[in-house]
Parts: sequence; structure tokens; C-alpha cells
Amino acid sequence: MLKREKVRIIAIDGPASSGKSTTARLVAGRLGYLYLDTGAMYRAITLKALRAGVDLDDEKALEKLARDSTLRMNFENEQPMVFLNGEEVTSQIRSPEVSDSVSKVSAYPGVRGAMVALQREFASDIVGSASGGKEGGIVAEGRDIGTVVFPGAEVKIFLTCDLKERTKRRYLELESQGISRSPDEIRENLSKRDEIDSNRENSPLLEAEEAVVVDTTNLTIQEQVEEVLRCLNSDLEVT
Ligand code: C5P
Repeated sequence: MLKREKVRIIAIDGPASSGKSTTARLVAGRLGYLYLDTGAMYRAITLKALRAGVDLDDEKALEKLARDSTLRMNFENEQPMVFLNGEEVTSQIRSPEVSDSVSKVSAYPGVRGAMVALQREFASDIVGSASGGKEGGIVAEGRDIGTVVFPGAEVKIFLTCDLKERTKRRYLELESQGISRSPDEIRENLSKRDEIDSNRENSPLLEAEEAVVVDTTNLTIQEQVEEVLRCLNSDLEVT
């Protein structure tokens, strides 16, 4: 069986609800690559902290909590599932309570250090596995993938989208999960997260220099996927 020397990485960064998750998941599916949702990892740590009643101003306690956590990301019935210390928490990590606190938790360098180490481990596991994980590549999405986590990524995409459209998308997403939140509350949460994520000292949300910027405001999901696939090197096989 073929062993890959180097994992192919596609980095997709951008603000909250800009279309990263859906686009990254579908691109990964088209390429047969592993999909890595790094936001889900910060959300899982935040969920754990909220459940344990950890003071969100206590950086040391949050760093310890992050380092002591086991995170697993799996695919079941084509849906990405998130496991925190063995417990499936896929929907719990999307709650408004987690959304309200995640940017504060993820701004701490100690928490980021633990998560970035884990994200790189996921990539090196693919290189080491006989089948190449899936087909030897990862589509990773987040805020600092192209700038910090995988600066050597083969392709870097930065998705943007106007706040009104992002609010609408998040509203529909929450509604489909039976969670009711007003558009005003959602807009407030998105812009607050953008502000914290963009202005934090450690690994802020930034376009990597070589990133291709794709504005998804007026694009359908299918168009977003096609845009990203167009950016890939022609030697990548797309099925
Ligand atoms: O992608 P999602 O919106 O689920 O991410 C939730 C939060 O996790 C972001 O608002 C950000 O605070 C944090 N995050 C991060 N770095 C990443 C991915 C997410 O700081 N690579």
C-alpha cells in the first residue's frame, strides 16, 4: 500500500458563518480528504469548561482543562461527529451558550497551544497511516489554519461574507436545530466573535498572504465549493 511522504493540506479560514464548514466538508468529500473543523475543537473545550463551572478568566485552569481533554472527530453517515472524552457532543457544542463564550476561551495562548498541537497530530497521523488517512490530505477550516497551524498548506482560502447574510445563515442553521434566537442576538454574537477573534494577540483571524479571498455573500454552497476546487493545483484529482 502507498504511504504518503507529505500530507496535502487545504486551509480554509474566515469569520463566523462565512460558509467555511459546509464548503470544507463538501470539498473534503469531493477529494476524499479528511475534514478537520478546528472551531469544533475550541467549542468542545468551551463546553467542558462551562459544564465544569470553570472561571473563564482563569487561563491556567482552562489550559489544564484543554490539555487534559481527549478530542476525537469522526464521520458517521457522512456527518462529522465530535467526541469529548468519549462522549458525543456534536450538537451541544453549537449551543448559543457555547457560541457566547468560545472566543474568550480560544483567545488564551495555552488553550491554543494544546489545540494546535492536536491539529498537527491529526495531520501527521494521516502521513503515517498506510492508506494515507483518507487519500492523503486534509481540508482544515478555522481562523488561523493558513497563518499558524499549517503555514505550508498547499492551498489557502479566505472566505468572507457580509454580516447580514451571515446572520441569516446562522439563524436558519439554529432554527433547523430547534434553537430559537433573534436575528439581533445572532448578529451581536457574530460581530462580537469577529472582533475578539480578529483582535486577539495570539493567532488572530487574518488572511494569509497567499490566500485566495472568496466572498460567499452571493454564492450558493455549490458555487463556493466550485470556487475552492478551482483554486486547487491541477494535479489534485477531483472526483
Ligand atoms: O468555526 P466556529 O465559528 O465554529 O468557531 C468557533 C470559535 O472558535 C471562533 O469564533 C473562534 O473564537 C474559535 N476558533 C479559533 N481558531 C480556529 C477555529 C475557531 O480561535 N482555528
